[in-house]
Amino acid sequence: MLPRAHIILGFFFAAAALYFFPQIGFLGAGLIWAGSFLIDADHYLWYVIEERDLSLKKAYKWHLMKREKMRKLSKKERRKHKNEILIFHGFESVLAAYLLSFLWQPFIYLAIGFIIHLSLDYYEEIAYQHRLDKLSVIWDTIKYHKLKKLK
Ligand SMILES: [Zn+2]
Repeated sequence: MLPRAHIILGFFFAAAALYFFPQIGFLGAGLIWAGSFLIDADHYLWYVIEERDLSLKKAYKWHLMKREKMRKLSKKERRKHKNEILIFHGFESVLAAYLLSFLWQPFIYLAIGFIIHLSLDYYEEIAYQHRLDKLSVIWDTIKYHKLKKLK
């Protein structure tokens, strides 16, 4: 899912959370919102490592191009190709934020934002890819070694 969609949908989830649970406050809602799209920073990190370039604009275009290439393949072919290894996309980052909430409670809202983000990503993956990635960074890393790289 594109960052724009995550920013918009994450905002609505955070606003709904604040409406139904006003005790979370603006800090809680803000962290839910932030978590729902800042998790995508790992896409940029992947670009920096793969392309050895720091341009955020080029990184965005690069991802759009890769996304289009992937979408042109049949669903069967898509399943044979690896995606990026995204270090924040998996239960590990949710667990880390949850554990950090014992040190500073508002980290729990970041974990909720991550869960919202990942749920939206899963929805898109099931619709377009027929393979569920991003459940675990460790599992994806192992799995991707057996798959073809997208050219
Ligand atoms: Zn994502």
